[in-house]
Order: sequence, then C-alpha cells, then structure tokens
Amino acid sequence: MDSDIDTLLKLQQLDLEIDNLKKLIERLPEEIKSLEKKKSDLILKFDKIKNDINHLEALKREKELDIQTYEDKIVKIQSSLEKVKTNEEYKALLREKAHAEEAIMELEDEILNIMEEIENLREEEAKLKGIVDKEKVEIEKEIQEKEKELEEAKEKLEKLLKEREEFSKTVRPPLLSKYEMIRKKRNGKAVVIVDSDTCTGCFMIIPPKVYSELVKSKKLLTCPHCGRFLIYRES
Ligand SMILES: [Zn+2]
Repeated sequence: MDSDIDTLLKLQQLDLEIDNLKKLIERLPEEIKSLEKKKSDLILKFDKIKNDINHLEALKREKELDIQTYEDKIVKIQSSLEKVKTNEEYKALLREKAHAEEAIMELEDEILNIMEEIENLREEEAKLKGIVDKEKVEIEKEIQEKEKELEEAKEKLEKLLKEREEFSKTVRPPLLSKYEMIRKKRNGKAVVIVDSDTCTGCFMIIPPKVYSELVKSKKLLTCPHCGRFLIYRES
C-alpha cells in the first residue's frame, strides 16, 4: 500500500505542476499584451505632445501672416492719406489704420501666448522623452523575459505531459481511474495529508474510526466527506 501512496503522490505532483504550467501559459500572453499596450500608450502620449506643438506652430504662422496682411493694409492707408480730399475721408482712413494697428497688437499678444505654450510643451517633450526612452527599454526587456518564460513553460509542459503519460502506464488501472475521478470532481488535489484528525482537502474532521484505521494500518483510505485519498504521516 505504501507504494500506492508514493505512486499517487508522484502522480499528483506531476498533475499539479502541469496545472500550474497551463495556468502560466494562459496568463503570460495576456501579460505580454498589456505590456505592449503600455508601451504603445506611452508612445501615443509622446506623439500627442509632438502633434500639439506642430499644431501650435502652424497657428503661429497663420497669425504672422495675418499681421503681414494688416501691415500691408497700413502701408496702403498711409499712401491713401496723402491723397484724400475731405476731412471725413481722412478721419475714416485714420479709424481704419487704428483698427489695423489694434488688430496687430492683439495678434502679437496671441503669438506670445502661443510661443509660451510651445515652450512649455517643448519642456514637457524633453522631460517625457527621457522617461519614454527609459520606460520603453524596460518594458521591452520585460516583454522579452515573459516571452522567454512562456517558451520555457511550453517546453516544460510538453516534457511533463510525456512524463505523466509514461508514469500513468505504471499505475494500477483501478487506482489511476479512481485518482482521476477524484481529481476531476475536486478540481485539483486528489491526495491530501491528514493534519491531526482533519482532512486538509475539505477541512472536516475525519471520523475516529477512519482515523484510527488510517494511523494503525496505514492503508490507503479516502475522506468520507470529500472522497480524497488520505495520507497519514507521523510527525
Ligand atoms: Zn476531506
């Protein structure tokens, strides 16, 4: 019977390792995906600042052209002023000139604000560039590590599945099918250790009769509550 216990423990050890590897293989691609998203978000954030700067620079050029238009207008007004005949015409031209000068001042203020904004964004861009470059390298390294881990886990799983298959051939068929039935039903561990008089699978107290039989005979028994194989180890 002792060898049955060893067999079951070995089988369970293989199965638990296989379960863990399968979970890891399922989890790692998700983790890699979220790292890639983190990286692209970072690049996107950086690109957004660059776009904002480009947009502001275009706006600044537009306003500079507007100033040029008003300046040309003022030159024209200036020459017209020399040719006017009536006082009303003269006054109207002066008003027009004043209006153009006012517009230029407003545009110059706007340009100054834009330049300040560009300056701030450039500072942010420079700061972020350092961070983005560093973080990108870190994220890429992390992705590589996870990809390597995934590859290794797949290789190990393949090896363990083969080992499990080979090993299961050496297990008495009735024992194997009972083990597999319990494992399926209990979703994981089919063999548990008895701690004092408690089953560590379901945490219920094992009836004294079963417990004493377990201690005395060291027979392969199952928990009357959850059906798992019980292992008694003298402490
Ligand atoms: Zn139990």
